[in-house]
Amino acid sequence: MATDRYVIVGAGLAGAKAAEALREQGFAGEIVLVGKETHLPYERPPLSKDFLAGKAEQDSFTVHPASWYDDNRIDLRRGVSVTAIDRPAHQVELSDGTRIGYTKLLLATGATPRTLPNADPAAVRYLRTVEDSARIRHALTDGARIVVIGAGWIGLEVTAAARQAGASVTVLEYAELPLLRVLGPELGTVFASLHAEHDVDLRFNARIDAIGADGVRLADGTLIEADAVVVGIGAAPDTALADAAGLDVDNGVLVDAALRTSDPDIFAAGDIANALHPTLGRRIRVEHWANALNQPATAATAMLGGDAHYDELPYFYTDQYDLGMEYVGYADVDDYDRVIYRGNVDAREFIAFWLKDNKVLAGMNVNVWDVVDPIKALIRSGRAVDPNRLADPDVPLDEV
Ligand SMILES: Cc1cc2nc3c(=O)[nH]c(=O)nc-3n(C[C@H](O)[C@H](O)[C@H](O)COP(=O)(O)OP(=O)(O)OC[C@H]3O[C@@H](n4cnc5c(N)ncnc54)[C@H](O)[C@@H]3O)c2cc1C
Repeated sequence: MATDRYVIVGAGLAGAKAAEALREQGFAGEIVLVGKETHLPYERPPLSKDFLAGKAEQDSFTVHPASWYDDNRIDLRRGVSVTAIDRPAHQVELSDGTRIGYTKLLLATGATPRTLPNADPAAVRYLRTVEDSARIRHALTDGARIVVIGAGWIGLEVTAAARQAGASVTVLEYAELPLLRVLGPELGTVFASLHAEHDVDLRFNARIDAIGADGVRLADGTLIEADAVVVGIGAAPDTALADAAGLDVDNGVLVDAALRTSDPDIFAAGDIANALHPTLGRRIRVEHWANALNQPATAATAMLGGDAHYDELPYFYTDQYDLGMEYVGYADVDDYDRVIYRGNVDAREFIAFWLKDNKVLAGMNVNVWDVVDPIKALIRSGRAVDPNRLADPDVPLDEV
């Protein structure tokens, strides 16, 4: 190859940000960005919030306008998939039959919703793309009967949007509380109360037998009639290409802190990357917007031969009814030993901290703003804190 060519597989947020970072960091060679979807790269959080509620247009969450790709000499190929990676030849194969040589390759293929067995595909809706969101929005009408399966982030956000559209909602959750695996029981209870107060019919320990045109049949024989069934039971990293190419894969593509895979010329970022995290001292795969936004700059530096490692703490946000929250850090549900609150939990204006041995692992601010930086500092310090001072709103967080 006469000039270097960097190929990016997957034109979502991580793919688009990687193209941007390569140019910003001075890469003058060719950049090819290949995306299965026909749209310009876009952000997904509005798909379960403002876009779903009919309050935002797609333009407002498109990563870059079309002209940006021309201005920056990004060869964006839309509506085309990469079907194989030929590592010895340093080439990728595309669904349109072409082969493209690469000097360096970045995998940013994201994740795909997990599907339910025993569900008639015509009777269920999953939420990942702008088309999925538009289709669900269509169903969220006044008086419609919506069943949401899975009380995770996406399920609960769809629930809030449906209630706000005047639909009645039944949520079926396998576990005994919402968000149990991500937040633990203490904060799971907060989200259960929030939705119960908005007249959502929450059913926990639900076992589903089958889903058909008439609704959802539970294992105990109950039929819950539905005009639409939305399934939000998590997503699986899209690792098919990496698997077939023989890269190391285990719950995502395994990468080091520089986001380099087991092949030194192939990198991964965003939802598919299971990356070594220097501060957390473990591998972590994060399906968060902020991760897809920020990891690509590190990958770009490493692809260009620079010294880089990704050390941002995981950060996530949600909006449901009048509850807005940000979560930063990482508290494995099997790992923390207590939760400390600062503020008024009943009024849903508080910060929750997950602690182990009095060290802060993670924090969540609910309807309290501009505190993410001091929470991050508490986590990064790795020092034990006085829980009484942590709980006391009169003690500034940076003095805890
Ligand atoms: C409905 C919804 C709401 C969300 N809300 C929040 C939120 O409130 N807060 C938050 O932090 N995070 C949220 N997220 C998560 C966040 O959107 C993801 O973490 C982020 O989109 C990941 O970006 P990505 O670029 O890694 O992957 P993706 O956005 O999935 O992009 C990957 C792209 O690669 C394409 N692709 C896959 N395979 C191939 C191939 N072989 N060839 C070519 N192209 C391919 C896919 O079609 C896709 O377009 C939400 C996600 C969803 C679905």
